[in-house]
Order: sequence, then C-alpha cells, then structure tokens
Amino acid sequence: MRIAIIGGGISGLATAYRLSRSRPGQEGELEIHVFEARDSLGGVIQTENRDGFLMDQGPDSFISSKPWAVELCRELGLDQDFMETNPNLRQSFILSQDKLIPVPHGFYLMAPTKVSEALRTPLLSFTGKFRMACEVFISPKREEGDESLASFVRRRFGQETLERIAQPMIAGIYTADPEELSLGATFPHFLQMEREHGSIIRALSRKKDGATGKTSGPRCSLFLTLKGGLHSLISKLIQRMPQVYFHPATKVVRLEKNSCFKISFEKGEIVEADTVCLAIPASSSARLLRDISESMANDLRQIPYDTVATVSLAFHRKDIRHPLNGLDYVVPSIENKKIVGCTFSSIKFSGRTQNSETTLLRAFLGGKASRELLELDDQNVVKTVCGEVCRQLGISTDPILAMMSRWPESIPQYRVGHRQTVERIFAALRNFRGLYLTGNAYDGTGIPDCIRHAFQTADQILSGFDHPVKAVSVGSR
Ligand SMILES: Cc1cc2nc3c(=O)[nH]c(=O)nc-3n(C[C@H](O)[C@H](O)[C@H](O)COP(=O)(O)OP(=O)(O)OC[C@H]3O[C@@H](n4cnc5c(N)ncnc54)[C@H](O)[C@@H]3O)c2cc1C
Repeated sequence: MRIAIIGGGISGLATAYRLSRSRPGQEGELEIHVFEARDSLGGVIQTENRDGFLMDQGPDSFISSKPWAVELCRELGLDQDFMETNPNLRQSFILSQDKLIPVPHGFYLMAPTKVSEALRTPLLSFTGKFRMACEVFISPKREEGDESLASFVRRRFGQETLERIAQPMIAGIYTADPEELSLGATFPHFLQMEREHGSIIRALSRKKDGATGKTSGPRCSLFLTLKGGLHSLISKLIQRMPQVYFHPATKVVRLEKNSCFKISFEKGEIVEADTVCLAIPASSSARLLRDISESMANDLRQIPYDTVATVSLAFHRKDIRHPLNGLDYVVPSIENKKIVGCTFSSIKFSGRTQNSETTLLRAFLGGKASRELLELDDQNVVKTVCGEVCRQLGISTDPILAMMSRWPESIPQYRVGHRQTVERIFAALRNFRGLYLTGNAYDGTGIPDCIRHAFQTADQILSGFDHPVKAVSVGSR
C-alpha cells in the first residue's frame, strides 16, 4: 500500500509520523512517501543559527493550551527542550502615536478580563472606554450565521477598541483585515461566550483558568518554544521516521485518478500511489485537483492566502533606548506603518543570542499594511523595516545583523463563510476514495491545530483501508 503525502511542512510530516506509528512491527505494509517542493523539509518552520544568533524564520513558538504540539514534542522526547516565554516580562505593547503603550493587564485579544485595568489605559479615549465598559449591557445578537470579527468587536465594544486594541492584536496572529475575518472560524469561543453569558466581559470574569486571566498580549504567556528553535521539532520528526521516504526538491505538478493516483513531478517523473494526502496550501491543492473535481477546486480557491515576512535584526543592547520591558509590540493599521509588529526575541526566549550585550528583534510583516513594501527587493524591505523599528525603539545605529525571510502565500485567511466552504470541500472529498486533505487551510492555522488535523487525517487514512490499521502511541511500541 503506497501512500503519497504531498507537502513536507508540519502538516505533511505529522501525517507521515502518525501513519508510520501504525500497527507495531508492520510498517512495511505501508510505503509512505513525502514529496516536498522546497530543498528542505518543515515548510514555514525553519530556524537559522548565524553569527551567534538563533533565529526562527517562520513561527517562533506554539500555544500550550491546545495540547497537540506539546504532546507530540513529549512523545518525541523533546520535553527537556521546552522553553517558556520570559516569566518576568509577560507584557506586550501597542504602538499609539509613536509611543509603545502597555496592553492593559488582563486584556484577552479583544476583550478585557479586568475592566478596572482597561479603564486606566491611555490607548482609549474617555468615550472609547465608556463604550467598551457598556459591553455588559449590550444584548446578544439574535440572528444565526457568520459575522466578521470587526463587526463583532464593534457591536460589543465599539469602534475605538476595535481600531486601537483588537485589530493589532488579531493581526499579530492572522495578519488579515478583521472586516473580512470570520469570527466563527477564528474565535468561535467568543461567540459561545456571548450566547451563554450574554456578555464577553461577564463570561471572562467568571473564567477561573489562567488561560485568559494572565494574558495581556497576542503572543506572550502560554507560549512555548524549543531550546534549539522550532526546527528541532522537524529534525526530530524526520529522525523518528526512518522507514518513510522523503523527497525534497520534488514539486508535484499534476494529479490524476484512475484505479490509483498518478502523480507527476516538475522534473518529469511520474509515480503511482493508492492513497494521496495533500498537505499543501488550498490554492496549490486547487491546481492539482482541477482535473479530478472542478467544483472542489473552486471551493479550495475560495480560501485566500496572505504573503508574510519576518525581518530579524540584531543590535548591541546599549544602543537601544527603549527598556524592552516586555516581549513584543503590535502596530494598529490606523498608525499607517509598514510592520504588523515586532518581537523582542532574545527577551522573549533565552538562548537567542550568545551574550547579554546583544539583542535580537524580529519584525513581522503581512496584510494590507505591508503589501506594497513586500513588492520591493529584500535589501529595500530590510532598510524600511529597520528604519521603522529604530524609530519605535529609539535606536540610532545600524543593526549588527539583518536577515529577511519571505513566506509567499503562507497564511490562510479564514473569511466570513469559511466554515461552510470547508464543509463543502470535505463533503465532496468523501466521493474520492483514497484522497485526503490536511494543512493550515481548514481548521486552525497554528502549529497545534495543524498537528491535530494531520493526526485526524492519518487516522482516517488508516480506517479507510479494507483491513483497518490502528494508529498507536509511542508509549505502546
Ligand atoms: C511567518 C509565520 C509566523 C508564524 N508564527 C506562528 C507561531 O508563532 N505559532 C504558530 O502556532 N503558528 C505560527 N504560524 C502558522 C504556522 O506556522 C503554519 O500555519 C504551519 O506551520 C503550516 O504548516 P503546513 O504544513 O500546513 O504548511 P506549510 O508549512 O506551508 O507547508 C506546506 C509545504 O507544502 C509544500 N508544497 C506546496 N505545493 C507543493 C507541491 N505542488 N508539491 C510539493 N510540495 C508542495 C511547500 O513547499 C511547503 O513546504 C506562522 C506562520 C508564518 C508564515
């Protein structure tokens, strides 16, 4: 039984891993191949160690409240390498008129858990604060159906909270315009809170777990990374799958289905497989599935992607005037800047620089604000980003190191109606035996969600065989 997994990011690799653990001692029955277009595996999860700086070029951490990444790392024996964000500085900032203002303590993405703290913030005007606090008196929406994030925040907390706090916090995760983002597909628990408690403030104040109460930024507490950078997860996964065939630099350009699947590569070669799992962006899946199902390809095309980039910048600590007494900051789009935010990487996680005299920062670009800039070459992008970061943090010297990583079409945008589109895609998929889809396009963009979806897909693949094969956890091997 030959299984072809197309795409060697975390989604494809986690699918291969789960399949490779099926039925102890019988892996030989499954011949698993992973085909990856790029020269290296891991997709957007890449780490560079250069001149004494450890730089995650794509994601730099994963949320621990969704257990799947933590559990996989434990299974792989990586728990010794877990690193938490700096416990003394769990604070994020929001840029407001060229000043970095702390996110009000207890603010959870778009809503305050402690109204008294939020009422003291200079981020909002008196009217903005009054409107935010009135949230407890706003009746829940009666109509069913999806809604944009912007509409939800505006309805419950007012325009100022949307523009000054929620938009930049959400852009730090999704980069997308909140006017287009689907609330149901991105933060369904806010909708549930509204339904169950009639008010988000009331719901959050009743929540006892620290998952929300201690949070004051988009990406500060609850996040974990690995000592050697996130690519150690990829290296360990590959190492634990000696029986899997990996084919980097092998782009799939065509997929045909007859009695089995015929897979054509850019290099001209063709192979056959009984089962195919597409772990690539929805737009790439649409291209490959055009000949198999035009309607499924059309639905896949409905999931747009944003191009994002990171720019790592290193400075001598003494050259930075800002005290860096936090982990990061985000930039509201009404500030009209090019970057979405900036992480104080070497403050957020230890071991990112060789000594305490240097500091590693990382700017994040994406969405509308960065679109024009990203059309320029790397050198010009770095120059502009560096100029902005230097002004925002009071730096008057050139960086000792600058490195840019571009991620074209890498972050899916879950627009209003996303869930219905995904339901249609997966309903249609059931008509094609042996064909599977996974990846960040469908049910969560973060690493933990990608792993969960990949494991579910692997289990479906295994149960789809005439003689079902069971996935086992490492403990039982
Ligand atoms: C800059 C950035 C920062 C992020 N930060 C975080 C974070 O801090 N925490 C977090 O949890 N998540 C973060 N995310 C999101 C998360 O990292 C991704 O959603 C997740 O890693 C996607 O994994 P994937 O395997 O689904 O897709 P990808 O990593 O995109 O992998 C898909 C792979 O498929 C390959 N491919 C595409 N077409 C073909 C083809 N035709 N043939 C063969 N191969 C093909 C591509 O080359 C690619 O390697 C971030 C994402 C980015 C881009």
